[in-house]
Amino acid sequence: MTADREPPPGFETRAARAGHRRTGEMENAEPIFPTSSFTFESAAQAAARFAGDEPGNIYSRFTNPTVRAFCERLAALEGGEACVGTASGMAAVLSTCLGLLRSGDHIVASTALFGTTLSLFEKFLPRYGIDVSWVPLTDYSAWERAAGPRTRLFFAETPSNPLNETADIRRLASMAHDAGALLAIDNCLCTPALQQPLALGADLVIHSATKYLDGQGRCIGGAVVGDGQRVGEEIHGFVRTAGPCMSPFNAWVFLKGLETLSLRMRAHCEHAGAVAAWLQEHPAVSRVYYAGLPDHPHHRLAAEQQSGFGGVVSFEVHGGREAAWRVIDATRMLSITANLGDAKSTITHPATTTHGSITQEQRDAAGVTEGLVRISVGLEDPADVVRDLERGLSASTGG
Ligand SMILES: *Cc1c(COP(=O)(O)O)cnc(C)c1O
Repeated sequence: MTADREPPPGFETRAARAGHRRTGEMENAEPIFPTSSFTFESAAQAAARFAGDEPGNIYSRFTNPTVRAFCERLAALEGGEACVGTASGMAAVLSTCLGLLRSGDHIVASTALFGTTLSLFEKFLPRYGIDVSWVPLTDYSAWERAAGPRTRLFFAETPSNPLNETADIRRLASMAHDAGALLAIDNCLCTPALQQPLALGADLVIHSATKYLDGQGRCIGGAVVGDGQRVGEEIHGFVRTAGPCMSPFNAWVFLKGLETLSLRMRAHCEHAGAVAAWLQEHPAVSRVYYAGLPDHPHHRLAAEQQSGFGGVVSFEVHGGREAAWRVIDATRMLSITANLGDAKSTITHPATTTHGSITQEQRDAAGVTEGLVRISVGLEDPADVVRDLERGLSASTGG
């Protein structure tokens, strides 16, 4: 424990050390506990653990020391009381909904959500009696109008993927609370290194750990962070019962990822800023969506609310799908994959990949056009990323 007068540890110190408990071997790096179950000293102890009279591990679907270390570290970075690790980012979204809501409840959600979250809300939740009203991310009066007596949750992603739209979290939080609802923010694109939604009034933070928390494109995982009752009891209760829990190995990879999160996010921001500025000057590009550019409609809010603009840059080329595919196919270094938040830069055509399985109407609402290309700018030299994109863009203009 820290002494009273000592200031709380800084962000990067928490990123390197929070949640670390050494075993008797006094190892310096966090150990991995790949065990399905834990043993008891006696039948009486087993009974006490199962009855909840004695704290401690029972089974890795309930708790696991490596997963707990990751959760404590992420909670310390987001400023939350509790965190639950999940098998994927989608499992985090699902567990939030099924852990907190019941049949008859209503969600107000932004149309600018990750494509699979849109599908989950549209195709699956209504089967269980949970229905969703869709609103444009930054149309605040639409959020207010959509909320009713059954509304329990406001759900938004800011900044959004792929267009980097930015919503005022404080404003959404106060509207959600006025409506008697909770605000959940998917903080995947910023990570706590750039934005901490709980400090701005959000109740729940959702992560796909698959992205920047890992940072090297290795493991699938997710997390929900928030208060002890909702996250520590209700959502954790759902996860330990239904089973979409995080694997200890993946937790260990994410735990290592968090140690370098702040350094990596700084580099992603810097590289993406350079690439976005270059794209904006290119004649084959009709529009660039990066909130770090002063002409992005949400530049000022993003500058205020975030400590960086992130690593995702989208741009539109003249000539629709054909031109966009030509750009992608002409690159040689960028990885053609829908993943983001990797050290390797990636390039994708959202309309036919991440946003391919939703309706045209939903794609239009999300602003995902046929000419849109999304890149996740990695940690390579930005000059090499630009050179690779130049190859693609000159192909798109036929030059
Ligand atoms: C990838 C992603 C998800 C889903 O995460 P998985 O780990 O792929 O299940 C949710 N939200 C956002 C913003 C994402 O980018």
